[in-house]
Amino acid sequence: TIGLLAIDSQGRISGACTTSGWAYKLPGRLGDSPIIGSGLFVDQEVGGAVATGLGESIIRISGSHAVVELMRQGKSPEQACKEIVERLIRKHKDMSGLQCAFIAINTKGEVGGFSVYNGFNYALKTANKDEMIDTPFDRK
Ligand code: ASP
Repeated sequence: TIGLLAIDSQGRISGACTTSGWAYKLPGRLGDSPIIGSGLFVDQEVGGAVATGLGESIIRISGSHAVVELMRQGKSPEQACKEIVERLIRKHKDMSGLQCAFIAINTKGEVGGFSVYNGFNYALKTANKDEMIDTPFDRK
């Protein structure tokens, strides 16, 4: 999956989410990417989030929508992503096959991300910055 979030100079947020495509999908499997609220969610009042990883787990908790709702309650993008990754792990119980990460942006243009495993990073492009950000790895 490739997830993209953008904010323009007037604070308008947009997002996009791709998936591996039909060629690699099991027959009948949709994945989370095309489901608004699971693979992607944007609310202009709050911000946006996108997911990558095991779609079946992300769908079960409406992952991207859940991240945005936590930001609505005042969590930073990183805190919101972390809390939802931890929720996902709790619900999944057996960690085998569980890979998942979220990135998020809020209306202030603050960004963050969090992953089940160490080593997940994302690209950040601003008017004067172009960098790779390593997500923190401090979950319990
Ligand atoms: N989330 C995608 C899916 O489950 C897979 C991926 O992130 O690569 O279809």
